[in-house]
Amino acid sequence: MRVNIDEIKEAGLRRSWDVTREAIDEMVAGDPAGYRARGATHLDAKLDKIERRVRVDAHGKAELTVPCGRCLSPVSLDVPVDFELTLVPADEYVDEPRSDKEKGGAPVGGSFEPGEAEEDVYAGKVIDLDPIVREQLLLALPSYPVCKEDCKGLCPVCGANLNDRECGCDRHVPDPRWASLKNVKL
Ligand SMILES: [Zn+2]
Ligand SMILES: [Zn+2]
Repeated sequence: MRVNIDEIKEAGLRRSWDVTREAIDEMVAGDPAGYRARGATHLDAKLDKIERRVRVDAHGKAELTVPCGRCLSPVSLDVPVDFELTLVPADEYVDEPRSDKEKGGAPVGGSFEPGEAEEDVYAGKVIDLDPIVREQLLLALPSYPVCKEDCKGLCPVCGANLNDRECGCDRHVPDPRWASLKNVKL
């Protein structure tokens, strides 16, 4: 997802991409919960240039599947990837560290309000949205996904899914000496 900043004209630039299932899989592989893509993700972005800064407003919805954190059943969920941020040229970012109050002169463009949106840095003429989308998607992922709030999980003794049935195991093991007796079948 690359944009040459010269393509962004006065009226802004609207672009959309279909991020492949494989690319989404790679992005979410950084999360330990085991997310996988169910398909491609459509991403819409609006880019506006204010002097050399580029404001990105992007929206998408990643269709994912993940094992429930308690019972391991596959859970389908749609994670919104919505973000707004301002990309600052690398040289400007170094020379002028973010300090909105000390900055003299309001920036050109009425809707642009520094400090409201997150900032990131770009170098050269080409903006690559891939790492930004990856970061935003990882931030949006629930860290402990469950199939339902009251998921009962798996029996630690026999592995049965306790949402389906009560296996009858004694899961309250008071003393390890008794725990070994439990496996003795009479
Ligand atoms: Zn579950
Ligand atoms: Zn059990």
